Amino acid sequence: MHHFNYRNGQLFAEDAAVVAIAEAVGTPVYIYSAATLTRHYQVFARAVGAPKHRVFYAMKANSNQAVLGTLARLGAGADTVSEGEIRRALAAGIPADRIVFSGVGKSAEELAFAVDTGIYQVNIETESELDLLSAIAHARGKRQSAVIRVNPDVGAGGHAKITTGSSANKFGVSFDEASRIYARAANMPGVKMLGLATHIGSLIMDLGDLEAAFIRMRDLTLRLRGEGLTVERLDLGGGLGIPYEIPETFEHGPDLIEAYAAMIERTLGSLDVEHGFEPGRLIAGNAGILVTKVLQVNPRAHTTFLIVDAAMNDLIRPAMYEAYHEIWSVRQATASAPRKTYDVAGPVCESGDTFATARPLPETHIGDLLAFMTAGAYGATMSSTYNTRLLVPEVLVNGAEFAIVRPRTTFNDLIGLDRVPRWLR
Ligand SMILES: *Cc1c(COP(=O)(O)O)cnc(C)c1O
Repeated sequence: MHHFNYRNGQLFAEDAAVVAIAEAVGTPVYIYSAATLTRHYQVFARAVGAPKHRVFYAMKANSNQAVLGTLARLGAGADTVSEGEIRRALAAGIPADRIVFSGVGKSAEELAFAVDTGIYQVNIETESELDLLSAIAHARGKRQSAVIRVNPDVGAGGHAKITTGSSANKFGVSFDEASRIYARAANMPGVKMLGLATHIGSLIMDLGDLEAAFIRMRDLTLRLRGEGLTVERLDLGGGLGIPYEIPETFEHGPDLIEAYAAMIERTLGSLDVEHGFEPGRLIAGNAGILVTKVLQVNPRAHTTFLIVDAAMNDLIRPAMYEAYHEIWSVRQATASAPRKTYDVAGPVCESGDTFATARPLPETHIGDLLAFMTAGAYGATMSSTYNTRLLVPEVLVNGAEFAIVRPRTTFNDLIGLDRVPRWLR
């Protein structure tokens, strides 16, 4: 369930009118709902058995500190993929002992920072990374808790660019090598080898793919234990999908979460291990929208273009993954209002800067506000300043109240980052 609904003909985020936020902050603007973040986290955490099992929110989905702070207060940990994300999680009040460090290419500096910070777990992706981590921690007189990310050779997810669990992908050690590497790791001075991790992709709606991966994790756990090795943690990754094509009455599917939790219990329940979870999109996706203003209406022979003030640099999912986002008018159209078919595009000089093609919408005019729904995950965090466009501001709504949680950058901020070399001065 999310908290973006029409009231009196206007789109509201919780109890705040979207039009009022757009007037106060300008467009484009990302708007997040604290109640939605809270609900998604709580439904998920309860279903998977937190706090006995652990939820590490995958913060690359949305790493605004206000979002992290909201989740931190509910007990969430963070799944991080860079030193910057570890620092951001700490700054938002997530303690080190609730931080996991994943990622396929961690530098020596990043691993040293993680060890010095005393984070909960490093998810090791390659044998060379294992050697590096052990050496770094040992040199500091420490043993870093770690698990090994295994690639179960089960590809899954909504798009080739977000599949990570097939042997053709760069992620994790191969299944065949896992036992040998695990046994080596168990005897290394700088690591405390506690278990296994996996993460097979994103936008997964078919639990069968996850189950196949988890069965392989169970078999590997039993094999390692048979060799006398300790396996007490299984990090099951994230990747659970959310529907992007949502009717206006959409209820966020607790059903899928319940079925996921039941599948895990059935598959892994007998192992007596601590489960870790790394949901990202599931928590943040439906908790955010991107509000944009129509700049131009351009009728052409085959379609009418709506040129809006948001662009691919603000929300790259349609350009990068052919992703679909529902588009709602901020002012609700009456049932009898004429509908037309539009192509919705941004102002960036690339044909890929298109949000939707042949999309039926209520008749739309210059100056109207539109909302890209389900933009809370992989929206602002993937934004850039391409075309020297300012980073979009982010707003968090809490009931009737709202706060700007990232202001729009200024042109001075942006242009001032460049330095002119001596010979051009
Ligand atoms: C991206 C990522 C996640 C989160 O994926 P979602 O699809 O957003 O749930 C979790 N774990 C790892 C290792 C990731 O890379």
